[in-house]
Amino acid sequence: MIPTEIILSPGTYQTIIDEQNIQRDKVEADILLMLENHFSIPVVIREENTDVIVAKELYPNPCPVCGRRIPFLRDMIDRLESRPANKIRCPLGHRYDGQIKVYYLNILQKTGENLGSKTIEVCPACGSKNIQHLSPTDVFCFDCEWDNLKGITQ
Ligand SMILES: [Zn+2]
Ligand SMILES: [Zn+2]
Repeated sequence: MIPTEIILSPGTYQTIIDEQNIQRDKVEADILLMLENHFSIPVVIREENTDVIVAKELYPNPCPVCGRRIPFLRDMIDRLESRPANKIRCPLGHRYDGQIKVYYLNILQKTGENLGSKTIEVCPACGSKNIQHLSPTDVFCFDCEWDNLKGITQ
């Protein structure tokens, strides 16, 4: 799964601005841009169905012919979405019909979990330090598909 967008309610947005100590004299567009840079994915603010992170997944993955996982998932998802034909190409060049599954993950909610547990700094799946914290307990990796986000719906 790859997080592609964060949807915040106006209230949560305000909380984040407060927590990040963002100066209030900045224009709205600048603040949004700062948040997008902070989270590394687009941020949307709206009233309904909020405080979720939109994540996407390629299906099937790995390749049904050779069993290899699809690399550069982010690029592949962009490509599939911008084209009418849903052909996935695996590292060995097999082409097969695929689809994108969209998930809505719960974030930014106080979970009563042990926040004192040590912060994750390295991806437990691939060892990359290229990981992003959405909150102390919500983390995902940019270099592989690992995350510890909790899904709301499947
Ligand atoms: Zn293959
Ligand atoms: Zn990883």
